[in-house]
Amino acid sequence: MVCIAGARATILRPKGFEMGRKSCEVCIIGAGPAGATAACRLAERGIDALLLDRARFPRDKVCGDGVGPRAVRVLEKLGLHPSEGFPGTYRLEGVRVGSPNRRILEVPVGDGDPEAKAGYVIPRERFDGWLLDQAVKKGAQVWEGTAVRRLDNQKEGVQVSGIRDGRQCSVRARFAVGAWGAMAGRVAEPYLAPVGDGRLAVVAMRAYFEGIQGIRPYLEIHFDPGLVPGYGWVFPTGPNSANIGYGLRQDFLIKKGISLRSLFEGFLQTHPSVRRYLEKGRRVSPARGALIPFRTARLPVGRGRLLLTGDAAGFADPLSGEGIGTAMQSGWMAAERIANTLQQGIPSKWASIAYASSCHKELVWNLALAGLVQSILLRPPFGSTERILDAFVEKAQGNPRMARALARMIIGDLSRTAFLDVRNWKKLLHAWREE
Ligand SMILES: Cc1cc2nc3c(=O)[nH]c(=O)nc-3n(C[C@H](O)[C@H](O)[C@H](O)COP(=O)(O)OP(=O)(O)OC[C@H]3O[C@@H](n4cnc5c(N)ncnc54)[C@H](O)[C@@H]3O)c2cc1C
Repeated sequence: MVCIAGARATILRPKGFEMGRKSCEVCIIGAGPAGATAACRLAERGIDALLLDRARFPRDKVCGDGVGPRAVRVLEKLGLHPSEGFPGTYRLEGVRVGSPNRRILEVPVGDGDPEAKAGYVIPRERFDGWLLDQAVKKGAQVWEGTAVRRLDNQKEGVQVSGIRDGRQCSVRARFAVGAWGAMAGRVAEPYLAPVGDGRLAVVAMRAYFEGIQGIRPYLEIHFDPGLVPGYGWVFPTGPNSANIGYGLRQDFLIKKGISLRSLFEGFLQTHPSVRRYLEKGRRVSPARGALIPFRTARLPVGRGRLLLTGDAAGFADPLSGEGIGTAMQSGWMAAERIANTLQQGIPSKWASIAYASSCHKELVWNLALAGLVQSILLRPPFGSTERILDAFVEKAQGNPRMARALARMIIGDLSRTAFLDVRNWKKLLHAWREE
């Protein structure tokens, strides 16, 4: 293990400093899916990693709780299987899409499609706690209740400082992984896109419901007239329970002058499918809202010895809002690049260069395409994504191939680069003509 702290610590030592001072090889800030995945992988590779989080686990995180195929693939690489991890995990069997004109398309996942992978719906309070436990089992150290306030990215290492259980603490490490999510406060400020950089975000609200009738293990999303590309969702957490929510791009919400809460409550009270589910159902948690930030070209993925992952780097998918899988994928990649650098004696600057290159190859390009497709569909000559969705759902009802493509697109199991392949457009056109 490489120790950089040492002599420096004796210079400045406020009261309580000793118990909260540590040196390690990698300091990970944030123990959500991105940070916990990075910790799992670093520990597997024998790297001394310390994971800091201001919360104490299990903690809630406002989310739709859809753990999609991308996340499942990273878990598999870590040798983890949610269905074995804890009982009651709800495995998805398909996707239901409601078009703005209230048609419903139902597609079983994997139905005749060997490429397709099922996902799960797992409340984040349980999922994140479970993943953190796996990181500890693999050998990572965790400091819960530690709010990081400052990160100094120096030439020879990083210096992370904050408050742990009301006392100052400080960590010195060779590298840091920024996995602090969308709302980290002061520590994230230097790494956010500048104001006026067209930073896009979705705002979304959800609550948990029980006693629901007629719900099936299908990931269910509904588009409303006048609100596309926003959508409401019903994600089943069990045979009679669900996470129900609504999300819309922040700029649309402002333009339309409506509140997120009124959209959410309206979805519960007026959407025919949801009303039916909730006839005997009851809300068992308060409705809570949060932000999903998306990338802009100027948002860094790393700087010096700091690599940014998950929501901290704006890695959620602008088309679907899926961010757990991309957070885990980026956490894995950051861990790999850092471990290679430490173990192969490569100069430290290559960690962030190699990471940025992997991110561009695996994530950034894909996410940029998703954003581009969305903005093209919202502009003339298309103008109305609503009409396209209505037509697509109607066509796909009688066309299993199209239905499967739409389902895989929604659960994030189809690379957005599929949009670039002329053969796919030809197939789509062919399928469109089929009756
Ligand atoms: C309403 C809503 C619904 C969503 N639905 C889905 C869905 O169904 N499927 C999906 O894949 N994605 C969904 N997302 C997106 C998904 O929740 C995020 O993309 C994902 O949580 C990102 O993971 P992360 O590890 O980067 O950050 P987070 O999960 O936010 O974890 C960040 C961690 O960092 C800690 N932290 C923050 N600041 C500090 C600090 N200063 N010091 C120490 N610790 C700190 C926090 O306590 C937290 O534990 C949804 C998001 C919202 C808002």
